Amino acid sequence: MLSEKPRVRFAPSPTGYLHVGGLRTALYNYLYAKKNDGKFILRIEDTDKNRYVEGAMENLIETLKWIGLDYNEGPFINGNFGPYIQSQRLNIYRKYADELIEKGKAYHCFCTAERLENLRVEQKKLKLPQAMYDKHCLKLTQDEIKENLEKQIPHVIRLNVDKKGKVVFDDIIRDRVEFDCSTIDDQVLIKSDGYPTYHLANVIDDHLMKITHVIRGEEWLSSTPKHILLYDYFGWEKPIFAHLPLLLNPDKSKLSKRQGDVAVEDYRDKGYLKEAIINFIALLGWSGKDNKEFFMLDELIKEFSLEKVHKAGAVFNIEKLNWLNSEHIKNKSSEDILTLLKKEMINSKFKSENYSDFYLIKVIEIMKERITFIKDYITLSPYFFEKPEDYDKSVIDKRWESDTPEHLHKLIANYVKLEHLNKEQLEITLKNTAEELEIGTGKLIHPVRLAVSGIGVGPGLYEILEILGKDEVITRIKKAIEKIKQS
Ligand code: GLU
Repeated sequence: MLSEKPRVRFAPSPTGYLHVGGLRTALYNYLYAKKNDGKFILRIEDTDKNRYVEGAMENLIETLKWIGLDYNEGPFINGNFGPYIQSQRLNIYRKYADELIEKGKAYHCFCTAERLENLRVEQKKLKLPQAMYDKHCLKLTQDEIKENLEKQIPHVIRLNVDKKGKVVFDDIIRDRVEFDCSTIDDQVLIKSDGYPTYHLANVIDDHLMKITHVIRGEEWLSSTPKHILLYDYFGWEKPIFAHLPLLLNPDKSKLSKRQGDVAVEDYRDKGYLKEAIINFIALLGWSGKDNKEFFMLDELIKEFSLEKVHKAGAVFNIEKLNWLNSEHIKNKSSEDILTLLKKEMINSKFKSENYSDFYLIKVIEIMKERITFIKDYITLSPYFFEKPEDYDKSVIDKRWESDTPEHLHKLIANYVKLEHLNKEQLEITLKNTAEELEIGTGKLIHPVRLAVSGIGVGPGLYEILEILGKDEVITRIKKAIEKIKQS
C-alpha cells in the first residue's frame, strides 16, 4: 500500500537551466506535498548520456534553492530511498529489466539501426499512423539470444507490449484517459549502452521511492500508457497521475525560447523577485478562489488543489509577471526593499554608502507605487542619487520660457528664507511666489521639476524637494538656470 501522506517528486533531466515549465511542475508538486503534510522529492533523471551538461544539476538545485522550493529528499541531503541521481542507480534498472525478461514482458532486440530504418520507411510507405517495432526479435530462440549475447552483438531490451485491449487510467486533471494498446510501441527499456531509458528508470524509481502522485507536464501524457503497462507487468501498485496543462506563448503556440526567456535564471537576472515568479508560475494552470491573483507562497500552500488545475493550456503573459513584480515589491517593508536596493546599487554607478538609510528609505517610499523592478529606483529616478546633467529637451521647449529664470530667482530667494523645508511649506512658498509674480503656479512647478530632476514626470514635486533638502534644491535650480540659458 502506498503511504497515506503524499510522496511526490520533481524529476528533471538537467539541461543546464531550470525551465519555467519545470518550475511549474516543481511548484505544484511542492504545494501539493506541503498542503497535505507530505514529502517533496527531487530526483535527477540523467540517464541520457548524450544530453549530459557539466554542472547542470548543481545549477538546477541552486535555482530551486534560490526560489525557496526546498526538497525533503534528494541529492546532497538524501533520505531513505536514495541515491536520488539516476546515473548512480544503474544496477537497479538492469536487475528489474532482467525480471521483466524472465516474465516474458520484455525481450532482447538485436536489430541493427539499418533494419530499423528500413522498417520505418516501409511503414511510412504503408501510411501507418506511426512507426512501430515489429517484434522481429521476439521470434529468437533462447539459444540464438544466448549466442548473440556471447558474441556481444549490440542490443537493446524492449517492452513486450500486449497489443490487445486498452490502457485506461484516471488522471486528476484530465479525468479518464484511454489508449489503445495497438498504438503502444515495444518501447526500448535498456539502450545499447546499457543505460535505461526514461520510461524504465522513471517507473522503477517512482515505485521504489514510494511515489504516491505523479504530477508532471502534459507532454508526458503519451508516455503514461507505457508506464501503466510497466506497473502492471511488474505487478506494482500505480501512483495517481496528474498531467499539467501545456504552457503557451501569447499566440497560443507551445512556449518556446524563440518568443522569450524560458530559463528561470533569466527572470531572476532581469530583476524579478522570487515571490513574483512563484506567484506568476502558480497561476499558469491553476486559479484560486474569487480570481484572487496576489499570493504569497504560504497562501498558495493553503489554497492549492490539484482538482482546481485547468485542462486548457496556460498562456505565459509577461505583463502579468511585471504587474505581480510591482505588487510584490509594494508588499515588502521599506527595510526589506532597502536591502534589495543596496544589492542592486552594487552594480550601478551609485554607491549606497554615499546615502543614509534614512534618505534611501524616503526615496523607496516615494517611488514605491511607480516601479516594476528594484532597478527602476535607479533608472526612473537617478535624480535622487545625483544632480541632473541634462534636461529633457521637450520639457524645456514646452515649459521653459524667457522669464522663467527670473521667476526661479524669486522662488530661490523665498526658499532661502525658509527654516524648515517640509513639503507643506515648500508648496505654500511656491504658491505665494507665483501670486507675488502674478503668474500661474504651473509656471513655477514645471520648471522646478525640470531643474531638480531633469525630466518632466515623477512623484509629487514637493515630496521630491523635501527629500532632496533645501541646499540641494537651491543648487539644482541655480544650475538649471545656468545650463538651460546656455543651451
Ligand atoms: N525526466 C522527465 C523530465 O525531464 C520527468 C518526467 C516525469 O516527471 O515523469 O521532465
